[in-house]
Amino acid sequence: MGTFGEKPSIYGLTIDELAGWLTERGQKKFRAEQIWDWLYRKRARSFSEMSNVNKECLALLEENFALGTIDLQLKQVAKDGTVKFLFRLRDGNLIETVLMRQAYGLSVCVTTQVGCNIGCSFCASGLLRKVRNLEAAEIVEQLMQVQFFLDEAGKGERVSHVVVMGIGEPFDNFDNMIRFVKVINHPKGLAIGARHITVSTSGIVPKIYEFADLDLQVNLAISLHAPNNELRSSIMKINRAYPIEKIMEAMDYYLKKTNRRVTIEYILLKDVNDHVEEARQLAELLKDKRKLVYVNLIPYNPVLETPYQRSTKEAMLAFYDTLKKNGINCVIRKEHGTDIDAACGQLRSKQLKKAN
Ligand code: SAH
Ligand code: SF4
Repeated sequence: MGTFGEKPSIYGLTIDELAGWLTERGQKKFRAEQIWDWLYRKRARSFSEMSNVNKECLALLEENFALGTIDLQLKQVAKDGTVKFLFRLRDGNLIETVLMRQAYGLSVCVTTQVGCNIGCSFCASGLLRKVRNLEAAEIVEQLMQVQFFLDEAGKGERVSHVVVMGIGEPFDNFDNMIRFVKVINHPKGLAIGARHITVSTSGIVPKIYEFADLDLQVNLAISLHAPNNELRSSIMKINRAYPIEKIMEAMDYYLKKTNRRVTIEYILLKDVNDHVEEARQLAELLKDKRKLVYVNLIPYNPVLETPYQRSTKEAMLAFYDTLKKNGINCVIRKEHGTDIDAACGQLRSKQLKKAN
């Protein structure tokens, strides 16, 4: 048992669940809205602050819920304003969250699992096997902690965008990830718009269908990283279970069902997947849906334990130009906080090494 005890975190409940829980205990339903106002608008740090909630109801909350279960362990601020947070979970595990300053607002990258079992060969998170899934509350709390940090700075800044691109495979923790999205999206809570939320997957095909069927209006990003199966299997072993043609079929279903654009993520690894030929193949692969996809070219953030290097500027630009010439929308992703281990899982893996 850690510093927070074992009570479930109140941040894991949807507003309807909280209302149901309260009414079962003889409390009025509207209390749920009051409590959510304290949690997500006034951002109370203790139940006792909730001054318009009756004593009996507060006692129930105190008795049954924890107001937070994650603890800030370390914070790094980069020159460009990117902030990386290392949090300790109640069971001692460490996770990372990143705050990025974008032209369009403040974006937070959240972690969904302790480690990752997908094991992509270029990724720091994949080097460490999955220890466990995060609970929905632990994902919500990452966002709350970042918002507390902004509140304390006193400039009235608010997190406006969320990317589910931290440590872990969100579609391997599907239910908790969806619960997280519902909590942060709710208009009575943080009210992060669905269109401001992006979930990134390495391509767990059945879950792409499930996600499409939920009709959430949340953005989907698919980590493709290679235009053919041979190459993709060599860097992402998940491709053996869910090869490119299956991902394309699932994507077609998603596009038809939701009518929303999909982002294709493509890390540029020097001399591995960054040749003009691969750009041509990628354009060919996507040509029948080019109006509905755009490609995010990601400069690789080198991970010490892997053999991969970042592509040269020339290779990146040639790749970009080839896609453009073939009518594919694309951007080279702007980097954030390269001076502070901002690549997924890097800070955590360094901390673990220090501890061992
Ligand atoms: N597991 C999910 C989401 C987390 S990873 C996924 O794979 O999509 C989020 C993105 O960061 C993925 O596109 C992933 O390939 C990329 N990524 C992982 N390690 C990276 C690194 N060292 N440099 C740049 N991008 C990286
Ligand atoms: Fe897991 Fe994504 Fe890293 Fe692959 S890239 S190991 S799926 S976190």
